Amino acid sequence: MTADVGAQGTGADPYELWDAAYVLGSLSTAQRHEYERHLAGCAGCREAVSAISGMPALLALLDRDAVAAAGDCGTVMAAPPLPERLLDNLLARVQARRHRIRLATAAVATVAAVALLLAVFVTLRSGVFGAGDSGAGNIVQAMPMTPVVASEYEATVALSSRDWGTHIQLECTYHSWAADSNGHSDDDGDTGDTLAMVAVGRDGSQTRLATWRALPAATALPSASTSMPMEQIASVQIVSADTGDVLLQRTL
Ligand SMILES: [Zn+2]
Repeated sequence: MTADVGAQGTGADPYELWDAAYVLGSLSTAQRHEYERHLAGCAGCREAVSAISGMPALLALLDRDAVAAAGDCGTVMAAPPLPERLLDNLLARVQARRHRIRLATAAVATVAAVALLLAVFVTLRSGVFGAGDSGAGNIVQAMPMTPVVASEYEATVALSSRDWGTHIQLECTYHSWAADSNGHSDDDGDTGDTLAMVAVGRDGSQTRLATWRALPAATALPSASTSMPMEQIASVQIVSADTGDVLLQRTL
């Protein structure tokens, strides 16, 4: 892309068209040094560089979600289409500087350079924000859990994928019939059952992540984490802590 940029110049200055590539960082190291040596002695090129040096700041106009979406595609080649406003700004500035030069050549070079810079920007962004990200990512909305046996429990489960594993949040309500049915109390009174959250891996492993006491007519919000990536979790279960019987589960 940059190798033939200089050859497109029609004036006496062979470096006339190197400014955009220089500002956007797409020159090779050798080309950059060569151009900087030229800049030292060429007021015209210094002026050209100065005029477009704010171009990278135009990237700030990019919609944050559009950039994030490009990162989610997993490849820097999947950069989103340039917003028209950004493209118009770039073209207007380039056109103002290069009215003597065929605009098509400059536009193609500039758009290609911006696309390259955008790709680098997306890569850096996912690198910087991905490495230290301890916040929520890829959250699955709360999903109802399916009763495995008839019980008085109702529950939902929500998972969120983190760099370090998976966070699991349960909402478990104990609709104790005993609480509103006089003279028909449970054998163990109103103390409720002890329940446990179990993560079942796709490799068959079962990991007990949390236990809690289900109080009559109350909703418990147990949450826990596992080092298992979310895609390796086959299902989440609520089991009786004492017997291990599965009461509810959600297959992922
Ligand atoms: Zn020059």
